[in-house]
Amino acid sequence: MKRYLFIDRDGTLIHEPADFQIDAYDKLALVDGVIPALRKLQDAGYRLVMVSNQDGLGTESFPRDQFEGPHRLLRQILQSQGITFEAEHIDESFEGESRMIDGTPTRKPGIGMLLPYLRDRDVDLAGSWVIGDRTTDLQMAANLGCSGLRIGADGLDWNGIVDRILGRPRRAERQRETRETRITASVDLDRAARPQVSTGIGFFDHMLEQIGTHGGFALELRCEGDLDVDEHHTVEDCAIVLGETLREALGDKRGIARYGLDDPQTPSRLLGQVAIPMDESLAVAAIDLSGRGVFVFDGDFARERVGELSTEMVEHFFRSLSVAIGMALHLKVSGENAHHQVEGCFKAVARALRQAIARDEGSASQLPSSKGAL
Ligand SMILES: [Mg+2]
Repeated sequence: MKRYLFIDRDGTLIHEPADFQIDAYDKLALVDGVIPALRKLQDAGYRLVMVSNQDGLGTESFPRDQFEGPHRLLRQILQSQGITFEAEHIDESFEGESRMIDGTPTRKPGIGMLLPYLRDRDVDLAGSWVIGDRTTDLQMAANLGCSGLRIGADGLDWNGIVDRILGRPRRAERQRETRETRITASVDLDRAARPQVSTGIGFFDHMLEQIGTHGGFALELRCEGDLDVDEHHTVEDCAIVLGETLREALGDKRGIARYGLDDPQTPSRLLGQVAIPMDESLAVAAIDLSGRGVFVFDGDFARERVGELSTEMVEHFFRSLSVAIGMALHLKVSGENAHHQVEGCFKAVARALRQAIARDEGSASQLPSSKGAL
């Protein structure tokens, strides 16, 4: 079934000027966040259709050529960013003088221009949305039998629209304070960003950054720990807080791939799916976000320390992380250079995690478990 987003133009894709007419290039300005939002929605399988009232277009009050230049530029900008509208339905009638198709007004909130979607049995109207900035857009949604979202209402912006349509945001924040450490962490699983990490241990920061970068999600983590004792509490507590934050962001895990491998139907391929070589060393990680914290490690590090991090803490970090997230993690490492080995471990786990937390498009509301719970 085809799911559509019927999207208003003025006030929704582009700002609406005081005189309501975008009839010059200098009046064209995109609404904040519209491009990444449309990309996400399009990637999630929605088809985009533009529906706009342009009062008196083609008359003396709004000559067509003044409309078309800026409109073509808008279309070109969107297309250059990979956003394609399947159709544009632009009504040219003045208020109170709507054109009719099959006895139905074409001017919003009328749906005269959209009757073919109602008649197409392959269109899932209940799973489709109208996005606009006016009450007439919401009335049109009701007339179509779609859901409606009004940008600007209650502070709803394009990020909020994506969250509303694609499900709850997979974000979480946590703070934890003990006598040994003070930690704040936040993750956003649906947004890649440069990781922000500071723990007071340079090499450990570098490793945690690998988790965000190769995991493909936004990660911030700050820790002030009792490094005057040693790095044990800092490393352990960062693992716990990071794991708890990830678990919270994952929520009920609907729509995720679950296994850190390409084909969840073939668990025999669980091991060996994410292998990261770094020169002579090789790290292999396999993950199952099963809800059960199990860590299996196979490897010996070539040195006792890398920078200010003792290599025995690497194993301890991943064990604590596995328990806090609730995942089975199998990690194997070989090699001769401890720096390569440790970095390979973090990258392999991050890459496996990236696959496991990826939203499995098309099964957004399904839980990847025959048991019905993870
Ligand atoms: Mg509008």
